[in-house]
Amino acid sequence: MAEHGHERERAGRERGPHVRVAVIGSGFGGLGAAVRLRREGITDFVVLERAGSVGGTWRDNDYPGCACDVPSHLYSFSFAPNPDWPRAFSGQEHIRAYLEHVADVFRLRPHIRFDSEVTMMRWDGERLCWDIETSGGRLSADVVVSATGPLSDPKIPTEAELPGLGSFPGKVFHSARWDHGYDLRGKRVAMIGTGASAIQIVPAIQPEVDRLTLFQRTPPWVLPRVDRGISGVERWLHRQLPLTAQARRGLLWGIRELQVQAFTKRPEVLGVVERVAKRHLARVVDDPDLRARLTPDYRIGCKRILLSNTYYPALTRPNVDVVASGLAKVDGSTLVAADGSTAEVDAIVFGTGFHVTDMPIADRVVGADGRTLAEAWADGGMRSLRGASAAGFPNWMTIIGPNTGLGNSSMILMIESQLAYMADFVRQLDVLGGRVALDARPAAVAAWNERVQRRMERTIWNTGGCTSWYLDANGRNTTIWPGTTAEFRGATRRVELSEYEVLRVARPRTESEERSMKTDTVKVEAGA
Ligand code: NAP
Repeated sequence: MAEHGHERERAGRERGPHVRVAVIGSGFGGLGAAVRLRREGITDFVVLERAGSVGGTWRDNDYPGCACDVPSHLYSFSFAPNPDWPRAFSGQEHIRAYLEHVADVFRLRPHIRFDSEVTMMRWDGERLCWDIETSGGRLSADVVVSATGPLSDPKIPTEAELPGLGSFPGKVFHSARWDHGYDLRGKRVAMIGTGASAIQIVPAIQPEVDRLTLFQRTPPWVLPRVDRGISGVERWLHRQLPLTAQARRGLLWGIRELQVQAFTKRPEVLGVVERVAKRHLARVVDDPDLRARLTPDYRIGCKRILLSNTYYPALTRPNVDVVASGLAKVDGSTLVAADGSTAEVDAIVFGTGFHVTDMPIADRVVGADGRTLAEAWADGGMRSLRGASAAGFPNWMTIIGPNTGLGNSSMILMIESQLAYMADFVRQLDVLGGRVALDARPAAVAAWNERVQRRMERTIWNTGGCTSWYLDANGRNTTIWPGTTAEFRGATRRVELSEYEVLRVARPRTESEERSMKTDTVKVEAGA
């Protein structure tokens, strides 16, 4: 018996420290989770961050021209208003600075383990906790909150998708991994893609490159961007009378809540918006041939609507070529499009998006039956209960999980709803007491997804005649929330215990196990 006790203690030491909650990622989702946990009085948690600083996608995406196309007063935490946003639509550097500020003001830094990339986590059904391996060491946690975000792992075409890429002699990088050490001045550059990232990069680099060749597989719908600086008077007012900032946020939110009805229920009214976008294109692009190439043949809103006043003008400049075809292969330094057009270039910038519906973290989560989350989702795509919990993955939840994305409003609203759900989840575990875990019932997950997919049928994302990263390999929309943010808030206010199976330890932990978990527990002082 004593020998077994020693073995268990040794195993406990090898597993590393134990925490109540492990949050993965320190972008908006992860920092928000940390703030919320502290507000709930929980201090026994860590935030595992693979990089050396906070900010998530707003740290990684520092390409020239990077900015947010959602107004900052809405694209920020309701519990951490910033009266000093300099512009209606802030640049990346301001958003990143905001997140650094949140980490400081809410005293989150003692919780953050930088350079700790999660390489694997396994559910231990006996101890009812997660064993987590990271590049910075091991640990275990009662609850895992995965806030890795959908836009974190860049998608670059593989050699099979893009033959010859490996032998390209020039520079290659992705929009989210910008190589600031590489001087684009005077270079012949290929921009691949026409998504939200590419349309910001193109006007930012066009003036300095020798030639810019844009490989456009699908033209985006682009609306004018009504941006402006926020005046000193407004900022003063927002500082002195926080209600004015709240009113501003409320207005921005309300307009988008109304707009979403067109995306979800009445796509036909979006014809008006298509006319505005076409006028915007016609006003800037005189050349009928270029205009034809830039005119989408699917409904507006089907892909994310892009906002820019500088994209179309950049495309009319003499050093820019728009190839209306996707990049199909690379032959030395010659890029060959699907329609046979070629361009000789020095550098390729991939604005080809992210692994969203095949999120890499899903390969690193091993659930109760020994399958990874990716394997569990292989048949039928990503699905969860209320965008958070997956069946067979007890005490694991994700922030910005399946079908929580938005096409027209601020993701921070959705994140905050999920934080409320997370807080109630942890609360429910407390109320149940003892060594306990909650596992989403497969029937509840199925019912939730049926409801979501039924509502999805009429939406512009499914009916607009396009492909997009909203749809998975089977054409199923597993990313977008087909409703208002208020509806999602209502659906995530509380954890319905009837939707979960309550798991309790079959074998009570021995005293020595409890002791080793307690002594190893990472303690972060409440006032730290
Ligand atoms: P994206 O929207 O997924 O766009 C990827 C682009 O790459 C698409 O235009 C795609 O064409 C194109 N592509 C892929 N393979 C290609 C090939 N072989 N040849 C030519 N084109 C190819 O990625 P993203 O622009 O990085 O944006 C992702 C998301 O990040 C956005 O939707 C948005 O949610 C977010 N974002 C937001 C902001 C903001 O202002 N808030 C800014 C940047 C990004 P197809 O369209 O034909 O598939």
